[in-house]
Amino acid sequence: LNDFPYKNILVLGLAKSGTATSKILVKNNYNVSVNDLKASNEDQVVKELQALGVDVVTGSHPLYLLDNAEVVVKNPGIPYENALIQEAKRREIPVITEIELVHYLISSPYIGITGSNGKTTTTTLTHEMLEQSNKKSKIAGNIGKVAVEVAETLATDETMVVELSSFQLMGTEKFRPHIAVFLNLFQSHIDYHGTYPNYKAAKTRIFENQTNDDYLVYNADDNEICALVNDASAKKIPFSSSQKCLDGAWCDETYIYFKEEPIIERQRIVLVGKHNLENILAAVAASMLAGATKEGIVNVLTTFTGVKHRTQYVENVNERMFYNDSKATNILATSKALGSFEQPIILLAGGLDRGNDFEELIPHLTNVKAMILFGETADKLEKAGLAANVSTILFVETMKEAVDQAYEISNEKDVILLSPACASWDQYRTFEERGDMFTEAVHTLK
Ligand code: ADP
Repeated sequence: LNDFPYKNILVLGLAKSGTATSKILVKNNYNVSVNDLKASNEDQVVKELQALGVDVVTGSHPLYLLDNAEVVVKNPGIPYENALIQEAKRREIPVITEIELVHYLISSPYIGITGSNGKTTTTTLTHEMLEQSNKKSKIAGNIGKVAVEVAETLATDETMVVELSSFQLMGTEKFRPHIAVFLNLFQSHIDYHGTYPNYKAAKTRIFENQTNDDYLVYNADDNEICALVNDASAKKIPFSSSQKCLDGAWCDETYIYFKEEPIIERQRIVLVGKHNLENILAAVAASMLAGATKEGIVNVLTTFTGVKHRTQYVENVNERMFYNDSKATNILATSKALGSFEQPIILLAGGLDRGNDFEELIPHLTNVKAMILFGETADKLEKAGLAANVSTILFVETMKEAVDQAYEISNEKDVILLSPACASWDQYRTFEERGDMFTEAVHTLK
């Protein structure tokens, strides 16, 4: 940890990132206190940290913890309304997130990827494209290890590719990716950031510390992003699925290009959907800038079936194609998945009721021949289905039932798609669990 300017540090929240951060800080001789509301002194991780010399306070957020703190490292999930955070702000104690420490842990260039949607897919693609080009790469963020953990052990010839949420970016001061990717901007996560301008401000932090030695890969089809990146100091590299960008990544009907160079014929790409085309273009630009080769990129795009649970191709059972898009926990994500296919779709959907209706889904149901519904929102989704004249609508209790029913009413060439448009917590612990149960049910069909 070079030049980290604080000695007494309060880590707030003991999830993966808080634990990793505490361990690294204490190992580097910083004075570390950890505070977590839900953890108990009996937890293994608490005992482990105490044994390392970390002062752990559980069960409440006592304000005295701030008396000695020079900085608070906050778990990205903890809201800024938290009383301890509010008090830290009042006392003018900086509040950062774990990702900020990356700046002090590595001097080699890293790639940071953000956006409202597509982060995990683009991060994975970029990482794979580098690996397939014989460039060593490590992935960090949602799907990999926590960024500080990766950064701590990164070799000088390795590139870190890190997925960044707006929650993480909000707590940065010096964080500066050599290659930043700004995918898209939708009105999500507003409950956390309070307002849309706040959300945008968090996202733009990805390029605010960049200089003209760095690169900013951005979505040239998104007017709002184009306006935001106007003042960026980095070299701007556009990507676009609708216009020719000779200074970036783009495509026509048949090929994907980086600058002047054709990279791959589009029909060879396994990933489906226009949204994934955008993710692919962003990953091509980022990985090419980091030294990937055309061959490496082609190897990835001709074999990659998708990140687990994200419009992931699962299996072909008697000419029915099954896709797992359990990660689609909102209408926008499900609309994208529905727009990815030309074939008739049997849609499996439903889940936690957040109080919204599904009117915005209606125009996207044109290709849907049947809906198999479950969970708290089943009735609301039925309304949307009826409004869109979906000819068959069935209700089921379990995922196994949903898959069996879908298969029973399907014809050859149909797409059977789990894309729930809702969170999973009414029936499952996580969207991963929901997607795994779908995949399992598909595999047992044979
Ligand atoms: P994130 O990590 O940002 O949540 P993922 O790569 O996990 O994004 O994709 C989550 C879902 O978001 C996908 O299943 C898809 O429905 C949708 N999605 C992915 N990429 C894009 C994109 N570029 N634009 C819009 N929606 C997308």
